[in-house]
Amino acid sequence: MIIGSGPAGLSAAIYTAREGFDPLVIGGSDAGGQLLLTTEVENMPGFPDGIQGYEIIDLMRKQAKKFGARFIDEDVSGVDLKSRPFRVTVSGNVYEADSLIVATGAKARMLGLESEAEYMGKGVSSCATCDAAFFKNKDVLVVGGGDTAMEDASFLTRFVRSVTIVHRRDAFRASKILQDRVLSNPKIKVVWNSAIEEIKGDSKVVISARIKNLVTNEVTETPIAGVFVAIGYVPNSKIFEGQLAIDEQGYIIKSGEVGTGVEGVFVAGDVSDRTYRQASVASGDGVKAALQARRYLMEKA
Ligand code: NAP
Repeated sequence: MIIGSGPAGLSAAIYTAREGFDPLVIGGSDAGGQLLLTTEVENMPGFPDGIQGYEIIDLMRKQAKKFGARFIDEDVSGVDLKSRPFRVTVSGNVYEADSLIVATGAKARMLGLESEAEYMGKGVSSCATCDAAFFKNKDVLVVGGGDTAMEDASFLTRFVRSVTIVHRRDAFRASKILQDRVLSNPKIKVVWNSAIEEIKGDSKVVISARIKNLVTNEVTETPIAGVFVAIGYVPNSKIFEGQLAIDEQGYIIKSGEVGTGVEGVFVAGDVSDRTYRQASVASGDGVKAALQARRYLMEKA
């Protein structure tokens, strides 16, 4: 069984199905994961003309189905990894599996503004690596004060005209070296003690943002083309609490490359990856998990 249907889960499904291990994929109610939140993907190996995020998922799903993978696009409500076979509850039904691949992904933490949701993929992004190239010579905002915000801001300067970091406090929490790099970059400016109140646009693209100074309550409207939200990630690991080792930020702790410490349970993709968060990396992880699951099942047989 595979829980999750982003690039990690689907790659695991393609491999396990093709090799005849009869995988059941519990895809989740938002099947497809974070790629569905993005538009054009230009850095997916094999697609020189770019490809839409949803198309990558559609193609991978089609490929997994072709080899016989079965899908249930509902949410898992509980898992029992202490019993053998493993037991997974979905909408009141219990499914059993001899081996389990956890590929439940992560969500970028978002600000929660209505306008942020409206312009997601139309100027609002949670992935600078994915979307920076769409903002050549434009002015953009980065929200956050951690390592991701610093890395995103520095990376964006390779493309954009200017980056303004909006941070809610008067100090960054990022490591000193990343802070120093940002603070000495002439293309980057910081607006301290501030929060975005609203992102405005013409319904197709972002045009400006209203930024509130949290000390003086003064609100200013800044013309910008993009907003990169970099305020942390939330791994989708809640259902594994008490069953798998999870760190303080919610990431499943790996044992070796794709092991979990529970024999027969493997993990792939963003639910255990705080560093790369890329579709092709997740996909590679899914393949590794599938190959490890195969080894485990064949040794057991
Ligand atoms: P993070 O360290 O949790 O930082 C999140 C930032 O966003 C904080 O500055 C926080 O403000 C701000 N924030 C959180 N919620 C917010 C909200 N609702 N509105 C406005 N601002 C908000 O997350 P991260 O930067 O993604 O890093 C996650 C982990 O990955 C960290 O352990 C980090 O060291 C690691 N990482 C390392 C590297 C590297 O070493 N190269 C690169 C990327 C990430 P406050 O500061 O006020 O709390």
